[in-house]
Amino acid sequence: MADHLYDTLHRLVAFDTVSANSNVTAAQFLADRLHSAGFNTSFQNVEISGVPHANLIAWAGPPVGDGLTISGHIDTVPFDGQPGWTRDPLKADLIEDRLYGRGTSDMKGFLAQCIDAAATLDRKTLKRPVVFVFTADEEVGCRGAELVGPQLAKLLGDLPMPGLCWIGEPTSYGICHAHKSIGSFEVTVRGLGGHSGAPAQGVNAIAVMGKVMEVIGKLQQERASSRSAAFAEAFPESPYDVLNFGTIRGGIALNMIAEECRLRISYRSLPDVDPMELHREIEQKQERILRLQNDPQEQEIEIRQRLKFAGPGEKIYIIDDKKK
Ligand SMILES: [Zn+2]
Repeated sequence: MADHLYDTLHRLVAFDTVSANSNVTAAQFLADRLHSAGFNTSFQNVEISGVPHANLIAWAGPPVGDGLTISGHIDTVPFDGQPGWTRDPLKADLIEDRLYGRGTSDMKGFLAQCIDAAATLDRKTLKRPVVFVFTADEEVGCRGAELVGPQLAKLLGDLPMPGLCWIGEPTSYGICHAHKSIGSFEVTVRGLGGHSGAPAQGVNAIAVMGKVMEVIGKLQQERASSRSAAFAEAFPESPYDVLNFGTIRGGIALNMIAEECRLRISYRSLPDVDPMELHREIEQKQERILRLQNDPQEQEIEIRQRLKFAGPGEKIYIIDDKKK
């Protein structure tokens, strides 16, 4: 491995950038290297869960449109208490043809390659701009990307927004040209408790949730029946928008009428589908779910949507609302 590449990776791995920790010194290190390579650099300083973090933006090339963004995250998943480590996770070790160390694959190895490429790039040959966006806190909830997305145009100043984005996630070292969006929502049913021996005197929240699941299940069936030819190859198992019942919790004892039931559902729409379209469809179903309430005094259904996803174009959707 080239010395410069290995040295950059070695130094990057040594920063303990587990998502909960600050990534600021690592971001500064990357910025210094890119600055030395002749790139313009800019930080977005943010606070995530009370900890200072930084998103780094760096660019070179003519200030024209249709540039290329190359993006990666600086944070890593934790290693403390993880079984299997026989060497220091914060020391990148090259043993024969394998690299060991936290983040060597996901994705400090890629960041080091970006720095290495930037150092050898002849910027005068660029016909369109190259923009690096290195983000904080991807592993836990893509918080860094969520914060930098809406501010990117401003952070780039006179540089037009790039038209393409290449993310260096490992993806088993294959090329993955598209991804589905992801959103989630939670349904809570509150019934009326009582003894299991007298079911008519209460409202069983789990039983009501069964009807909610039927409504959502029908929507999934409708979606599964319209398979996309364009994405048959990219998503061979599910070339359609998918919904998933993730977790369900309800009731506290066998001899009690279940008073509350909570269901969490996620959905992923195809890359060419506006995720808002599926969102609107789910909203219509929600109206039907809410009408399941026969007697509002005895049974309450609450739907909470927390959606975060990037859609076609430059739109980033963040929706957080509650319906009763
Ligand atoms: Zn990753």
